[in-house]
Amino acid sequence: MDYVLALDQGTTSTRAIIFDTNGGIVASAQQEFRQIYPKLGWVEHSPKDIMGSAVGVISEALVRANLTAAEISAMGITNQRETTFVWDRKTGKPVCNAIVWQCRRTADYCKKLKDDGFAEKIYNKTGLVPDAYFSATKIKWILDNIDGARARAERGELLFGTVDTFILWQLSKGRIFATDYTNASRTMLFNIHSLKWDTELLRLFDIPFSMLPEVHPSGHFYGETDKSFFGSPIPVCGVAGDQQAALFGQTCFEAGDVKNTYGTGCFLLMNTGRRAVKSRNGLVTTLGAGLTDKPDYVLEGSVFVGGAVVQWLRDEMKIISSAEDSENKARSVADSGGVYIVPAFTGLGAPYWDAEARGTVTGITRGTTPAHIVRAALEGIAYEVCDLVEAMEKDAGIKLARLAVDGGACKNDFLMQFQADILNCEAVRPRVAETTALGAAYLAGLCKGVWKGPDEIKKNTALDRVFTPNMTELTRFELLNGWKNAVLKTRAK
Ligand code: ADP
Repeated sequence: MDYVLALDQGTTSTRAIIFDTNGGIVASAQQEFRQIYPKLGWVEHSPKDIMGSAVGVISEALVRANLTAAEISAMGITNQRETTFVWDRKTGKPVCNAIVWQCRRTADYCKKLKDDGFAEKIYNKTGLVPDAYFSATKIKWILDNIDGARARAERGELLFGTVDTFILWQLSKGRIFATDYTNASRTMLFNIHSLKWDTELLRLFDIPFSMLPEVHPSGHFYGETDKSFFGSPIPVCGVAGDQQAALFGQTCFEAGDVKNTYGTGCFLLMNTGRRAVKSRNGLVTTLGAGLTDKPDYVLEGSVFVGGAVVQWLRDEMKIISSAEDSENKARSVADSGGVYIVPAFTGLGAPYWDAEARGTVTGITRGTTPAHIVRAALEGIAYEVCDLVEAMEKDAGIKLARLAVDGGACKNDFLMQFQADILNCEAVRPRVAETTALGAAYLAGLCKGVWKGPDEIKKNTALDRVFTPNMTELTRFELLNGWKNAVLKTRAK
């Protein structure tokens, strides 16, 4: 038996999972870490916390699996994307806390970029819209605001990396300074067509080239962890951003394959093969995970509030006692009674991009009960995903055949059935729901030869349940019409 370790460094916790050759989970460990909010809208992570949790969970998972580091064939890293670290090339000491993807501190500068007409140039090179999420403006902020940082960067003393790069650098004691295509494609500095750091954008953001890591395919031998950490070195053979790792873990290897992750927000990704599809509907174009130096392109759409609306029902509205409870409540009524909830708590993401929109509950009557509200909230998640799918189908010119699902809220059978119904396509739930970690493990294991190729991996993938659409065309039409009207009300100023 071979063992492959996946390190999943997420936004709120770090996890290590050890998989066996069959893709089964042998052991796992998880640690949460601090979220730092220095000002309204600012989010930071302590680099020390991140490294402590990474080393901690790997050690713990090894102990739980009763394995030594020498018995691990390969390790893959997957991570929260875009979060930005800058540190000293000699000492490894970060110049400040990591700026997290959610942090809005550079929003005004991004608005100025748009006002100054840079949006099209940036989109054509990077596939992204100028937004504070992506790393470029975060690096600029650090160089402009941390004492002495710019001078040190210009002398070649400072390095930039997303979480994968920082962890690789630390775990190899500075021997590996690298990232992969998927993480590079989220920095807003990487040209996704030439597959190179873009010198014109580096000039625009005033970032020295010497700060940037080498870029490799996601499945690639990056080097080994220093033996001081786990007793023996572990070869790192895979690196990928979390959403692209999940797409790979769902075995979406062909053009047209789509997965949606139902977490706090929702992330819909479609593999578009070697074709970089330009979006006219508010999606971004980004790079997928693979093992060659010709990565596939991916269309990505996200909504900010997905499973979070269920947390709102539980914590603020207090009409359910747990997230799981939402399923039975929703099933206790035949339909939502005409109620729609558009959970635009922080504005609307793709395909609307309306930052000023706010959530609405519409269609309330004297007969509306908490069960109708719960059902409308779950249905609202499915409608949001439906809007993303519609945009993606228009952009790619591909009709969705099946939707691979994962994330915390995909455990909800009611939600998955309604999703299949409203999309009129199958929703397919895998048995191993940890698709992000699985994707990182697959990349590393394929590179190391633990698995021979994609076909062997596909054979490994066991399905938990396939949800088949079962709704009349008329009902679907009427419900979707109701949703579109509810969205309009959200936006009415
Ligand atoms: P993240 O990775 O974004 O933290 P997870 O994938 O862990 O998110 O999913 C957590 C989200 O899923 C929460 O917002 C929670 O409300 C929702 N959730 C979890 N279980 C259920 C369920 N059975 N029904 C509906 N929503 C659920």
